Amino acid sequence: MTITSFREQLHSGFFSEYEAEEVYFDSATEHQRLVVFKNPKFGRMMMLDGVTQTTEADEFIYHEMLAHVPILAHGNAKKVLIIGGGDGGMLREVLRHSSIEKCTMVEIDSSVVELSKEYLPNHSQGAFVDPRTNLVFNDGSAFAREPDDLYDVMIVDSTDPIGPGEVLFQDTFYANTRNCLHPDGILVTQNGVPFLQADELRNSLMHLKQFFTDVSCYLATIPTYVGGPMAFGWASNSKSHRSVDVEILTERFAQSGISTRYYSPEVHKGAFALPPYISNLTE
Ligand code: SAM
Repeated sequence: MTITSFREQLHSGFFSEYEAEEVYFDSATEHQRLVVFKNPKFGRMMMLDGVTQTTEADEFIYHEMLAHVPILAHGNAKKVLIIGGGDGGMLREVLRHSSIEKCTMVEIDSSVVELSKEYLPNHSQGAFVDPRTNLVFNDGSAFAREPDDLYDVMIVDSTDPIGPGEVLFQDTFYANTRNCLHPDGILVTQNGVPFLQADELRNSLMHLKQFFTDVSCYLATIPTYVGGPMAFGWASNSKSHRSVDVEILTERFAQSGISTRYYSPEVHKGAFALPPYISNLTE
């Protein structure tokens, strides 16, 4: 019997390979090669240009940590901007906060949104038709040059720095993120797995330090982003956001009424504790 499988192409000299019980879609969109298939351990999963983007089994970790950490650290966020995020999981988590009045999502590839609605409906769970959603199909870096509004929280839910995602790791984009944020806003970014992608994190944080006074990262372990914990970049001009007490986070979290499977106020605080091999990359 032949087993169909997809091999991830992200790291040189080290590969993860996923068995595909069923292949739902495998074709090129206008921007990238998109594959959706079912793996026996992770459920339905999506790869773009040979890189794992999201899986039904572990997406909650990534989406909860990129959405709830900045929103609850801010404490009064009403408008959120997502760059990328085509599968809709980030939009879903952001809109679980009834205090959010508007969430703009800027995705370069409309096919990712359409195919995710069809094959990964549990990611968005209706978030695309929420009246607070403002869905824009554009390159995130072009949008950041002339944003439509000022946001409290900006979440870069991008692919890795290859293909269309490359511009979202460059100086010009990071400089323009300030156009998108209120002075006390928070920017968080998908920044790869530092054990295998140390340069990616070091470079992003080095660029961000030119434009923000408080720059660091926080961590979460997501099984399909292999090689150790994943880093999320953090940038703000208000240092107090990163050091909110756990008691205040607990109060805000309880008030939100949200139930989570990975996020908790204690996990939030602990995520900013960095082992030296990672904190060295932030200096
Ligand atoms: N969770 C994923 C990860 O860690 O790799 C990210 C998932 S999400 C599907 C990434 C999205 O970013 C894709 O839908 C892709 O089309 C989008 N994207 C890539 N480059 C972009 C750009 N320049 N502007 C806006 N969206 C972009």
